[in-house]
Amino acid sequence: MFTCDEKSTPETCKKADIAFKNAATIVENTFDLKVPIAVNASFVKLCGTFIKCAVGQPEPLGAAAPSRLLPIKDNTDGETRLFPQALVKQLQLPEHPEFSPVDIVAGFNSNSDTFWFRGDPPIGKDQVDFEIILVHEFLHGLGFITSWDDYFNVNASSLTPTPSFIFTNPEETDGIKEGPITFTGFQEYILDRHLVLTKDNSSLTPIAKKINGFAPLNTKFDDQKAFLDAFTKSPVYKETEIMFKNSITRGSVAIRLVDGENVLIETGLVPFKPGSTFSHVDFDAFGNTTDFLMRFKAPRQVTLDDLSPINGDPEYTNPIGPKIISIFKSLGYPMKENSSTFKIISNQNQDSLTKSSQNSNKTKLTTEQQQQQQQTNNAFTITTNTLLLFLSSFLISNLLL
Ligand SMILES: [Zn+2]
Repeated sequence: MFTCDEKSTPETCKKADIAFKNAATIVENTFDLKVPIAVNASFVKLCGTFIKCAVGQPEPLGAAAPSRLLPIKDNTDGETRLFPQALVKQLQLPEHPEFSPVDIVAGFNSNSDTFWFRGDPPIGKDQVDFEIILVHEFLHGLGFITSWDDYFNVNASSLTPTPSFIFTNPEETDGIKEGPITFTGFQEYILDRHLVLTKDNSSLTPIAKKINGFAPLNTKFDDQKAFLDAFTKSPVYKETEIMFKNSITRGSVAIRLVDGENVLIETGLVPFKPGSTFSHVDFDAFGNTTDFLMRFKAPRQVTLDDLSPINGDPEYTNPIGPKIISIFKSLGYPMKENSSTFKIISNQNQDSLTKSSQNSNKTKLTTEQQQQQQQTNNAFTITTNTLLLFLSSFLISNLLL
């Protein structure tokens, strides 16, 4: 499902649409999807609608996340973790919690002049290939996210997995729920299963368990403040502070691959950057490697047609690198063999795009064309409110700057 806001020109919307199809093709040729995945992708003004943006900071290029994370008992160790819906579909379990109609929600900033599209003049030094951004964000939506974050403090100082609560008697003001809560545990995501401390390759799961030991499951609290008071005073709270320290100490945490190799994750940003820290691979370790894609910052002046300036290997044409493929495989996704040389070949769509954009510069659209565009806009437009409702149920933790 593709939404393009009316402020973008029809030409830009068409270019964005082609880019979405190409990014989907890259995913389809890397993942051996057993069940189709539905993506709700929007090319809109992100700030103030999709997400809150900090004043004076550069606007994010895109944001994406699974539309729903489902609690599933993990067969490998019997722990229950939150799985992205797209993955649960591939597992084809006999029973599963209810699915949302879409699997991935993604938004891209139409307000940005950073994007480079196929058919544009040669890419500038500050521009990023829109298709590279799309593939990066789709991978977050497919499950490249961790639960470890600071959910309680304005200035991050303590990390936990995602806390979950049930409101026993919710009163709602401005969309924020209040009232008595039942604490239902800090929940790990599926990727968290593979996180280790590099000092001794020990798993983070026992730390998550220790933090969970703060109160028995289903403990009731008068309100969120009462929960927080009890939590910060509990002896396990120091574990969350140690985890925070790890998150700002470069090289301290890694995703451990099945072959025993460690893929460092981003713990080198000081101060802690929500959305960037922990949910990406280490920036410096993966520059000029085939696994450049999941670093927190998008590569400038590099196009999918020639990745060699960023991945260092002209033979490896897929933006999704071997380590990232190995990570998704260990999450449980069926992956295609030999996808390393997959490459998008510019097709007739692009030729016709170039022609039509040349025409549109010279001639006005015919009434029929205008009507067609109107219909397309109507068919794909959803209001900002719907988007907010859609997104309010989870933390968008993956901004690509
Ligand atoms: Zn990202």
